Amino acid sequence: MKSIAAMTVMAAIGTGAWAKPVVEDSAPVVTVCMDSFADAALVYWAKAEASKMFMEVPVRIAWKSGKACQASDAIHIHMRDQTPATLKPGALAYALPIQGTYIELFFDRIQDVVPNPLLPCLLAHVLVHEITHILQGVSRHSDTGVMKAHWTPEDYRLMSLRPLPFAVEDIQLIQAGLSTRGERLEASARASRPR
Ligand SMILES: [Zn+2]
Repeated sequence: MKSIAAMTVMAAIGTGAWAKPVVEDSAPVVTVCMDSFADAALVYWAKAEASKMFMEVPVRIAWKSGKACQASDAIHIHMRDQTPATLKPGALAYALPIQGTYIELFFDRIQDVVPNPLLPCLLAHVLVHEITHILQGVSRHSDTGVMKAHWTPEDYRLMSLRPLPFAVEDIQLIQAGLSTRGERLEASARASRPR
């Protein structure tokens, strides 16, 4: 048994599986800290799926808690329940791309949009959408894919089959945004410091 398993692994490596870790290792790493009251399995799945979606860029998401979250470039995701109807009506979440590190999810609204089995998938897409706003550093949307301003019932159906893709310009904007992210965060911190 052992040798067959080992041979299978070796065969996988031999067929080019080496190439992938190299890409993943060289991908920029983004630290994300998320506080959540939702079901742990749901959140775990959504984070894993979001990480997988970002490998298309490629960007590696480091989901952290504790001390790592004190880093000045760590992205903080706050989950909210009982969202007031007057707070960004119709939105499932929002990000602060200029401030550069803050996202709020309206979990009650996210839960209301799709039936329960599709919830992990929708949560993953909301995470990717908002983190993308932060990484791009601009508030813009694409006509198609994960960065659409409003997903339709057809989009919800499609995302349950396979992840909605990034538009080409979204990938370019993430890469451009990452290259200037350090300077942008410094400028934003300077602007918010009391004089
Ligand atoms: Zn958006």
